[in-house]
Amino acid sequence: MRIETKAIHVGEEPDLRPGSYGDVSRPIHLSSTFATLDIDRPTGGYDYSRSGNPTRDALEKKLAAIENAKFGLAFSSGLAAESLVCLSMLKPGDNIVAFNDLYGGTRRLFDRILSGNFSIGIRYMDARKPENVAGLLDSRTRLVYLESPTNPLLKLADISAISEISHQSNVPVAVDNTFASPYFQNPLDLGADIVIHSTTKYINGHSDSIGGAVMVNSKELYEKFKFEQNAIGSMLSPFDSYLVMRGIRTLGVRMRQHAENAMKIAEYLETKKQVKRVIYPGLSSHPQHELAKKQMKGFGGMLSFELDIDRRGVEKFLKKLQVFSLAESLGGVESLIELPARMTHKGVPEEDRKKLGISESLIRVSVGIENVQDLIEDLDLAFDAI
Ligand code: PLP
Repeated sequence: MRIETKAIHVGEEPDLRPGSYGDVSRPIHLSSTFATLDIDRPTGGYDYSRSGNPTRDALEKKLAAIENAKFGLAFSSGLAAESLVCLSMLKPGDNIVAFNDLYGGTRRLFDRILSGNFSIGIRYMDARKPENVAGLLDSRTRLVYLESPTNPLLKLADISAISEISHQSNVPVAVDNTFASPYFQNPLDLGADIVIHSTTKYINGHSDSIGGAVMVNSKELYEKFKFEQNAIGSMLSPFDSYLVMRGIRTLGVRMRQHAENAMKIAEYLETKKQVKRVIYPGLSSHPQHELAKKQMKGFGGMLSFELDIDRRGVEKFLKKLQVFSLAESLGGVESLIELPARMTHKGVPEEDRKKLGISESLIRVSVGIENVQDLIEDLDLAFDAI
């Protein structure tokens, strides 16, 4: 089955056995515990919803299917998923080699919790050059951690090349695939070992649930993560599992529209004199456009651009917008716009932001699936005001 079909059917096959109802949409099992007739054998295979829940299990099958993975796990947030992977794979004294352009919350987890509380080394590098990874691996490196495209600068890491280098040193590679979504990129197929998502974004797609996912092919890793997730208690609730499952059914049509709208807006922005640069992997002006074409099946719905005006002008521009909401987060059907330096990435030290290129006039856009003409007219009004 192709992804659009798997997104609809996997995990939600109707139960046509006598006594069942044949639901085509998986019911929500809210029960926290499950009664049993037999002490040693739970009646329906479940005993307590932290350890296992039928609605979450159905979602986890769907999550695995859309990433071409053997196993999937659903978490209470993207950061819960990241924390579990890292704390499961690293001990004090070990280190992670990580892309230096990551979501601000991931950097906070790495710098304040993993490094600050657990003495885990974090070795940041510019993963646009795969050879930078090789130089930092040593006998205590337990994980290479990538985002591609990155948040908010849409830099790419060559997942195949980096996986090959890391595997030569027996170091597994984790990729946060939130920006691309499983519709446009499948890191496991490119050689990575672990895929992480904030399902809060494109996978759920409707900005009404916080969640995370981990997908792997290795049974050993899956069993370790599942055991530790139950031990820590960071799983997704049944109601959120239902919401995410419902969102996934339309992943294909949403992603195609996100990408089509984003391309049109990127091209429109390139024509505006107040815009210094537009960053979108689908533009031939993107320095890694060739790599994007090679490892992605589409360029996604996220773009960033830099205005050639001062702080006041940027504020005026953002306030003028009516269809775009000024808000953090991304990946929902509605268009969102934000200023990373003062919103999502304000936790990244100013010096690091400057080095990376996250200026005070860099604007990040999550292009929604509204009529693109309405989005362009909204931007037009804001440009006229500055
Ligand atoms: N990864 C990326 C790329 C993100 O953008 C985010 C949140 O914005 C996260 C992970 C964290 O996910 P969550 O907010 O669901 O914990």
